[in-house]
Amino acid sequence: MSKENILIINCGSSSLKFAVINPRTGEEFINGIGERLGSPESFIRWKFEGTKDRKDLDNGAHDAAVETLLHLLEEKGLKDSIAAVGHRVVHGGETFTKSSLVDADVMKAIEDNTHLAPLHTPANLIGIKAAQKHFPELPMSVVFDTSFHQTMPEKAYIYATPYKFYKEKGLRRYGMHGTSYRFVTEQVCEQLNMDVNNSKLVIAHLGNGASAAAILNGESVDTTMGLTPLEGLVMGTRSGNIDPNVFSFLNKTYGYSLEEITDILNKKSGLLGISELSNDCRAIEEACAEGNKQAQLAMDVFCYVLAKQLAGLAVATGGVDALAFTGGIGENSDQIRGKVVEALSFLGFELDQDKNLAARFGSEGVITSDNSKATAIVVATNEELMIAKDTAALIA
Ligand code: AMP
Repeated sequence: MSKENILIINCGSSSLKFAVINPRTGEEFINGIGERLGSPESFIRWKFEGTKDRKDLDNGAHDAAVETLLHLLEEKGLKDSIAAVGHRVVHGGETFTKSSLVDADVMKAIEDNTHLAPLHTPANLIGIKAAQKHFPELPMSVVFDTSFHQTMPEKAYIYATPYKFYKEKGLRRYGMHGTSYRFVTEQVCEQLNMDVNNSKLVIAHLGNGASAAAILNGESVDTTMGLTPLEGLVMGTRSGNIDPNVFSFLNKTYGYSLEEITDILNKKSGLLGISELSNDCRAIEEACAEGNKQAQLAMDVFCYVLAKQLAGLAVATGGVDALAFTGGIGENSDQIRGKVVEALSFLGFELDQDKNLAARFGSEGVITSDNSKATAIVVATNEELMIAKDTAALIA
């Protein structure tokens, strides 16, 4: 195997996802995750050549997970095929408008933006440092969730709060899922034979975390997530947009603290909060089919809010040539896509239900009719491949 593969590392506070990918062909040789890191139950599991396996980490934290990963890659004969490591980093603030090779200045700049993502950035930094320790000979890159949205105009990212908070602490909309939007933008233009420099796209990235973005001529001009991933759409466990006074309401009526309310809005709301059943779209769809009214309400609110915000994003692009659905829900839930495209018929979309039903389980394609003035399309996202391509370009 030639030395051109990229090791992708996506490090969270108690997890570490990894994959080895060929940036040219997209072939993925191994993928896996270290879970419950830092606890006695920590373990690492992976899939290699179609076979799943796992190993306990004996109270291992991130460093132990990366060390085990190094041995695993050696054992599978992949280590010497790796040319560089690409790290997914959540927040690049206003410093990073694109992916970068890691050096001391870049590490310092990421650290300086920690206050913008205090839960995620420290874990990202731990992942980079552990990789530098165990793969000292490899160049490393950082690919940010936020950087693609740095093209947004001021009017789209400035909150109507006292301006000094922006100037002094960077309080503004940043947006997330940028790597996915970049990948899907390329795919949509390729598949629809569109000139990216003359394109008006609205993309809905609907996973357990969900956001949507307006992409004009290949550049992000607005997006639904904000300073943090809590803003915008209804998600699996996140509320999305609510009246900010909910904080004082819940404090005064139930006595919840700031931390408790933040936890409720991030982890106990969304589909889970309304349905009181599950954050998982499949479970909600199954419950709807069995006549569960609260699950149906969760589904209705999810779709209504999504359609309303997609229409809002069409203001940013000044019309829509194509609407793309991606992420676990976007790629699989024909119900949600169908409802949303029908709700947006006034923008020129005409759903083709047969095509919509056909596009699932990895099957992509256009889901609007041949007569439809605007096109809706399902595209499978691949953030890991985008990170691999960025990293390969940076070391070239
Ligand atoms: P992600 O975060 O992109 O992995 O997406 C996770 C979400 O996709 C969960 O809410 C899943 O229930 C949803 N999902 C995955 N497969 C399906 C499916 N076949 N039908 C509906 N939702 C699905």
